[in-house]
Amino acid sequence: MDEAEVIVVGAGPAGSSAAYHLAAAGVDVLLLEKTRFPREKVCGDGLTPRAVHQLIRMGIDIKAPGWMRSRGMRWVAGEHRVHIDWPGLGSYPDFGLSRSRHDFDDILARRAVAAGARLREGVKVTSPVTDRAGRVTGVTAGAGAAAGAAGGAGEPAVYRAPIVIAADGASARLALAMGLQRDPNRQIATAARRYYRSPERSQDEYLELWADLRYPGNDHYLPGYGWIFPMGDGRVNVGLGALPHRRYGNADLRAALDHWLARTPQAWGLREENAEGPVRSAALPLGFNRHPLYTSGLLLVGDSGGMISPWNGEGIAQAMEAGEVAAERAALALALPEGPRREHVLLNYPVEMNRRWGRYYRLGNAAADLVFSRSGFQPVLNRYVMGSPFLLKTLARLLSNLTDKPSRDVIDHLINTVVRLVPAPSVRRR
Ligand SMILES: Cc1cc2nc3c(=O)[nH]c(=O)nc-3n(C[C@H](O)[C@H](O)[C@H](O)COP(=O)(O)OP(=O)(O)OC[C@H]3O[C@@H](n4cnc5c(N)ncnc54)[C@H](O)[C@@H]3O)c2cc1C
Repeated sequence: MDEAEVIVVGAGPAGSSAAYHLAAAGVDVLLLEKTRFPREKVCGDGLTPRAVHQLIRMGIDIKAPGWMRSRGMRWVAGEHRVHIDWPGLGSYPDFGLSRSRHDFDDILARRAVAAGARLREGVKVTSPVTDRAGRVTGVTAGAGAAAGAAGGAGEPAVYRAPIVIAADGASARLALAMGLQRDPNRQIATAARRYYRSPERSQDEYLELWADLRYPGNDHYLPGYGWIFPMGDGRVNVGLGALPHRRYGNADLRAALDHWLARTPQAWGLREENAEGPVRSAALPLGFNRHPLYTSGLLLVGDSGGMISPWNGEGIAQAMEAGEVAAERAALALALPEGPRREHVLLNYPVEMNRRWGRYYRLGNAAADLVFSRSGFQPVLNRYVMGSPFLLKTLARLLSNLTDKPSRDVIDHLINTVVRLVPAPSVRRR
């Protein structure tokens, strides 16, 4: 048996961020990860200024080699090709990054360890441990991905803590074990990616997004987009993500990827002979699709709480930000004696997440249901919008949730006002 003040399950961006901020606050935190670093995670590897902001808050050295900077986004739709630089805001950096999840997650986990977190790799958590009142008091770990660690290779182990943070990704094993089902009304997007050797595109200063992809079979627009993200090491990360279409359902992402890449110039090298590894795909839980985000000593962060933005499919920044908020609430709760005051602080975690993104996600979920899942990005990226720098900047900042608050320019003002007009969703409790 092993004890801590907080156990964090999963050392992806959500878990390592939570563990780092807890350790920095002087909390004894145990971070349990089923794999061993470095390891792959299916992702686009693209980081917006929102994510860069979170990396800076964790004290990650983003000037070190291996980080590929981006100036902004290039959107491609039909014959249109536009560049939109990341905005120069007061609250966020004016650049993005890309870095393979192969070492990105490792860097974050090491940073949490440097701050004082205890990381156990190769420990696969199987279930929460609860007391008689149903409150989480720890976790059990069963057969893990690697031998040698407690909870690995068939040696069951119990880890105890008064607070547990579930950062176990889209599988949401801990949340499900506590009966927190996904909202069946919310759609799940899927995304697929593959690396290609492409010296031609690997040093690109822009994250490229294609909004006019089609179903290979019927030629209708895909309710999603394709990306080409430069890795800076001779490779690009290429992929596409889509919602299920209202009429045509889920697309065959591999076929759609082939269909799209055949359209790209030969010189870019996005062809079978330059591919590194297979096409890999995974689910994107969007728009707060699991509630409540706190129950009985368990806080959900990142994909386990369905926190990917319904506007653009971005989830790393959101996972890291939620990790920080959860850490702050847990540290505050631990400063109080067990009982109603502590519980009140923990119950405030979903309230705070709802304050940050409730309205914005509600609007994004509506946009996903009413527009994106019917017609993709075509209706918003029409000729008129693509020809207007003002509308493009506004749309880009809306999609990537980049505004200053309070507003500092007309675009901030417009977006912040529209989002404020959306009725705040109620915070669900058990
Ligand atoms: C194809 C694709 C492309 C994407 N592209 C982007 C992008 O370009 N930019 C972006 O911001 N987002 C992107 N996303 C979304 C992003 O990958 C996720 O939102 C993000 O990884 C969520 O972080 P997380 O820490 O919540 O979960 P994860 O990154 O999934 O981490 C969960 C961790 O928990 C561990 N774990 C799971 N179960 C257990 C267990 N039982 N016991 C112990 N450990 C466990 C896992 O091994 C993993 O390390 C993409 C997603 C996909 C599928």
